[in-house]
Amino acid sequence: MDIRNIAIIAHVDHGKTTLVDQLLKQSGAFRDHQQVAERAMDRNDLERERGITILAKCTSVVWKDVRINIIDTPGHADFGGEVERILNMVDGAIVLVDAAEGVLPQTKFVVGKALARGLKPIVVVNKIDRQDARADEVHTEVFDLFAALGATDEQLDFPMLYASGRQGWADEELEGARKDLSPMFDLVLRHVPAPDLDRDAPFAMVASILDYDNFLGRVLTGRVEQGRAKVNMPLKVLRQDGTLVETGRLTKLMSFRGLDRVPVDEVEAGDIIAIAGLTDATIPDTVGSPEITEPLKAIPVDPPTLTMTF
Ligand code: GDP
Repeated sequence: MDIRNIAIIAHVDHGKTTLVDQLLKQSGAFRDHQQVAERAMDRNDLERERGITILAKCTSVVWKDVRINIIDTPGHADFGGEVERILNMVDGAIVLVDAAEGVLPQTKFVVGKALARGLKPIVVVNKIDRQDARADEVHTEVFDLFAALGATDEQLDFPMLYASGRQGWADEELEGARKDLSPMFDLVLRHVPAPDLDRDAPFAMVASILDYDNFLGRVLTGRVEQGRAKVNMPLKVLRQDGTLVETGRLTKLMSFRGLDRVPVDEVEAGDIIAIAGLTDATIPDTVGSPEITEPLKAIPVDPPTLTMTF
């Protein structure tokens, strides 16, 4: 299946969760739309309860037979290197800005990293339904931000959509038809390149996100940088300095579907996957087939994160 990998960048409360829920509902990610609606509601209830945003790290939707993996980007610098590692897995980004609040610190921080990485973001001026929306001013603010951060001419020529995640529409025109989110899906397919990676090389991925699951234990998420992975294949894990960390078998191989990780038998270069079953592998190790002799180049983990990990 054709793939697009994008990061979603926004200051907290600018509407990431609401937009992603609407993208899920309107995409072909599920046949049972009812189920998505309920899941989204559950999540909103949980959010209300805890007063925080719970957005899956990676959400996957299908539009016109293309899988779009959407990776959430933390808006702060607390986790050294995490933003860069996430941006290294994607070929595009959606910068979501609240039409009333405008550009805020977390927008700046991550946009700076995305531009430095050479990505050409899509800008979405969100919450256009707000009474106090100031769409044109916010558009200018975003342009000025890109310019101040040293954007190239190509990056400055960003495509832009007006949207209301809550009402579930996006439009290229401020006074457009405001029908649904299809303009956003279509723009992603048009503007974001498909990952261009070697499917025939030996399998290798960079472990880019580490989390723990009650049932699966240690789960490593990353993009397949080369080759194909099959469940049960032998694995080798290399640290950035080339040290062999462990060898094992790929017992749990997962891909993203909607808000969930689901077991799959095989994946190929370009897809974002999660694997479980390894005991010592961590970020940013290279997980690959036994033929791999060198680790892939990865963003190092900054000392603050090391202190927290060990
Ligand atoms: P996140 O922190 O970026 O994930 O933001 P949320 O999706 O949780 O939204 C933050 C707040 O903005 C919530 O109260 C949402 O209901 C509200 N919100 C989200 N999208 C829209 C929108 O399109 N229009 C308006 N008016 N409010 C929105």
